Amino acid sequence: MEIAIIAHDGKKAEMVQFLNEHKEILLQKNISLVSTGTTGKKVKKAGFEVLRLLSGPLGGDAQIAARVAEGKCNMVLFFRDPLEKHPHEPDVLMLMRLCDVHDVPLATNPATAELLMKGL
Ligand code: PGA
Repeated sequence: MEIAIIAHDGKKAEMVQFLNEHKEILLQKNISLVSTGTTGKKVKKAGFEVLRLLSGPLGGDAQIAARVAEGKCNMVLFFRDPLEKHPHEPDVLMLMRLCDVHDVPLATNPATAELLMKGL
């Protein structure tokens, strides 16, 4: 199964901490990670194998949205920063909409992501 990892700048440290806390689950052979560019850099640095796409503002969220639509991506962990403005908000909305269209689990905060990890 493919899990997408995305974090806005203000949430990247929290995402890395979250991934480290769930390393055992996420390093399972049947799980592959895909990520937006800058988040992916940090995910890689934390020791995970990850397919890095474009940075979010350059289309990375849209690329992940496409993978959701194509049935390639089965879960999205997206730590959003609700206190910042983002130039690519339309892409983010598209990603969330396509998760709903295709019934793909989407966590937009660590508490929900935690519950999704328990589901794995
Ligand atoms: P980034 O993109 O990982 O390239 O920072 C994330 C986002 O802001 O959507």
